[in-house]
Amino acid sequence: METANPTQEAHYSFFQGVERNFDKAAKYTRFESGILEQIKACNSVYRMKFPVRIGENIEVIEAYRVQHSHHKLPCKGGIRYSMDVNQDEVMALAALMTYKCAIVNVPFGGAKGGIKINPRKYSAFELEKITRRYASELVKKNFIGPGIDVPAPDYGTGGREMSWIVDTYASLKPGEVDALACVTGKPVTQGGVRGRTEATGLGIFYGIREVCAIKEDMDKIGLTTGIEGKRVIVQGLGNVGYHAAKFFFDAGAIIVGLAEYEGGIYDEKGLNIYDVVDHRKSTGSILGYPGATNFKVSGDTLEQPCDILIPAALENQINGSNAGRIHAKIIGEGANGPLTPDADEILAAKGVIVVPDMYLNAGGVTVSYFEWLKNLSHVRFGRMDKRFSENHFDTMLKSVESLTGKRVSDIERSQILHGPDEVDLVYSGLEDTMIGSYHEIREAFLKLGGKVDMRTAAFTVAIDKVGVSYEELGIFP
Ligand code: GLU
Repeated sequence: METANPTQEAHYSFFQGVERNFDKAAKYTRFESGILEQIKACNSVYRMKFPVRIGENIEVIEAYRVQHSHHKLPCKGGIRYSMDVNQDEVMALAALMTYKCAIVNVPFGGAKGGIKINPRKYSAFELEKITRRYASELVKKNFIGPGIDVPAPDYGTGGREMSWIVDTYASLKPGEVDALACVTGKPVTQGGVRGRTEATGLGIFYGIREVCAIKEDMDKIGLTTGIEGKRVIVQGLGNVGYHAAKFFFDAGAIIVGLAEYEGGIYDEKGLNIYDVVDHRKSTGSILGYPGATNFKVSGDTLEQPCDILIPAALENQINGSNAGRIHAKIIGEGANGPLTPDADEILAAKGVIVVPDMYLNAGGVTVSYFEWLKNLSHVRFGRMDKRFSENHFDTMLKSVESLTGKRVSDIERSQILHGPDEVDLVYSGLEDTMIGSYHEIREAFLKLGGKVDMRTAAFTVAIDKVGVSYEELGIFP
């Protein structure tokens, strides 16, 4: 579950902001205007209303599923539960999924869903009724299925909701052998893959670690290479923000600030993320954490001194009115659309490196792809080769030891002999994806000779991939 507070910039809707960013990049690509228009368009928008009995009353629930692109199938993207859900937001998020999947070479089209409810207002039983009804509406209209459209968790949803969806789908499609692949982000016991829960946060960490590894780029913004000792502020302690903060903390970064909807805390000496979460559990708020300065207005936390800022809550958090007061030299977009186009311009003028959402938070969908593959292959990753690898490593190690007459220590032996478990393979696939995709974006950025920001460079990479796919599909006469 993810939590935070949105603010809206007056003159662009979220979807218009995404279109504006697309247009900035489109002129650097080679495609004719018809192809560009098709890439940009939302192909299918399904708005539904359905009744659910809540206590004594019947509530009419408003919900959406938007499929932005079908150039590759299935379409893919999460489902969010929030009172801010509206058609424009779901369209924008679906479009971002198209570009995100393209950037990390995940062979899916983009989609997104949303139910306009405040999930905190309902009991688990009521949420289950709403979720199952939503899933059956999707089935009725052929908007869900392993080869059609595969939802996943997003803001306000998690493994529990995905279990209800897969169970509803499987009961409406008896005998469908691949039914488990109709949704990802499921608990491991329900066909999920190990490593999916923390995947977005871990992907953010791998991505920023790669950004910080390039000396030439760090020199330009006056930072040293490496994560250790970097001062980090994270907005949002939901699934994405919490895991990102945890991975930074474990790697030796100093978490100086944390912001949630109830307020924010800051301590230049560093906050222990595990203790802050315990404190929030026991008091109901991050405020009042021993030794930290409190910010009643949560957004003020983002304006405190730091090297890296990770907005991992909702869209439009850094906009024309607060971007000028941000100190961070690197902003890593953990959320989808946390910076408005106005903020982009202000930050670019200040020389801030903005690592865009469509790359940086793609860890979730990358591991969703692994989960989908696992479901279609009906076998856990590592099941066939773990033991084989261990036996093979053992033979090699014994040969080396007998040839050299030396023995490695017990700790080294167990490290060398370890064959990969599912989670090792998932982490390794994610790490490789985040590193490889960052270099694709950076290369595009360098090729454009510093004329554009990193978001525009990322868009050019995505447009190239989706555009080629449309060209190769052929357009019906
Ligand atoms: N909701 C996540 C996102 O915005 C994950 C989507 C997925 O796994 O399909 O990227």
